[in-house]
Amino acid sequence: MGLKLQPLLILTMLALLGASTFAYELQTSGAGGAPLRWSSKTVELAVSDSIFDSPNIRGSEHAYEAIARAAASWNTASGIQIVLSRSKALSVSPPGRKGDGLSLITIAQTPENLLLFSGFNSSRPAVTRLFFDGKGRILEADIVLNPYFSTSTDGSPGSFDLESTVVHELGHALGLGHSEVLGASMRNSVARNGLYSLPFTSARTLSSDDIAGVRALYGPADSEGHCCGSVAGTVERDGTGESEVFLWLEEKETGAVAAMTRVAASGGFRIDGLASGTYDVFTRDEGAGAASVGEVEIRKDVTSEVRYKSRAGTGRSLLSAVGFNGQLSTIAVPVNAGRSYKIYLSATAELEHFEFGASAPGIAVDRSATEFPDYGSEVSVAAFVVDVDDSVPEGEYTLRLYRNGEMVDCIVGSVSVEKAPNPWSHREL
Ligand SMILES: [Zn+2]
Repeated sequence: MGLKLQPLLILTMLALLGASTFAYELQTSGAGGAPLRWSSKTVELAVSDSIFDSPNIRGSEHAYEAIARAAASWNTASGIQIVLSRSKALSVSPPGRKGDGLSLITIAQTPENLLLFSGFNSSRPAVTRLFFDGKGRILEADIVLNPYFSTSTDGSPGSFDLESTVVHELGHALGLGHSEVLGASMRNSVARNGLYSLPFTSARTLSSDDIAGVRALYGPADSEGHCCGSVAGTVERDGTGESEVFLWLEEKETGAVAAMTRVAASGGFRIDGLASGTYDVFTRDEGAGAASVGEVEIRKDVTSEVRYKSRAGTGRSLLSAVGFNGQLSTIAVPVNAGRSYKIYLSATAELEHFEFGASAPGIAVDRSATEFPDYGSEVSVAAFVVDVDDSVPEGEYTLRLYRNGEMVDCIVGSVSVEKAPNPWSHREL
């Protein structure tokens, strides 16, 4: 879409199991264009009456509260205020240079809404249509929940969680793209309730990566005194440079994933919206595995300029999925502090030759209890018990693969420590 300087329309979507995309990423008005954002700090969004009448939302009497909580998550995290109202309107604005001026969230089965779920989008639980001008100013954001799918507020198995879905779509409505961090609300994958035999409510809670993204656009909430600083620089790539490279930060003290971004083909990167503190910095080359490349100190209102060398050649990209309760997926495993869980990893190499670990000092792998269950000849699977100490803060943590004591690959944000109970505990600590 090279139509810069013209009002444009783009679609952003929530996929079931999407291809990998970029990490906290901002949508732009075309290649090299300005990031999309609202110019006002207040965004008015109308909730269509169809949300309350829909037979496809189980527990629809709680739908407004779920949508209000989703809006509050973004409002609390940043300087933006999403203000809700109700509307009898049913349809999103049709594609074009301009919408009707009303930003709407709807599930009505109108022809205009249903068109959004034809073909490629048919498997998506929701779609957001943005209208913006040539300067990247968002003028209208319309969200349609897929009227063909079951959505719920009560965790009904097989349905999509309404609040999680709306959190994700509101992120698009504010200008965010998809995240590469597994536990992020803006991740381009969402599970139905029932994956891992759990209700899927993880995405209700914004990850640090989501929060950095929205703060990059709208700044922090007034109360956040320690925010925000930035890191920018280059990654010098070792090897052919054909594959994608991602760079991310983990809090030095806790190991929690703070934010992640895709490194440009030129080697340049930038992450804004970071809280002050010390971070370990990592890169993952899709063709060469993951490595620690250094650390950085983030200070409020300062951009730390850094230069890293990516250490390709330490391995190949080996890990393909994480899992729980016997199911493999690209969805983060939700766990609770103070408990221990059996977690799975799958890879394209024989996992018997590797060791496993986590980014958090408080998450320990019990090496004595690793099993290698048979999932067929295409994939190697390891199942091991992790002890999550009571002291581990809520957040996203990275499962790592080691060989001879050196990290060779990892899945960023593959374990999500959260409050929502995961009762499938291996043992109490
Ligand atoms: Zn999406």
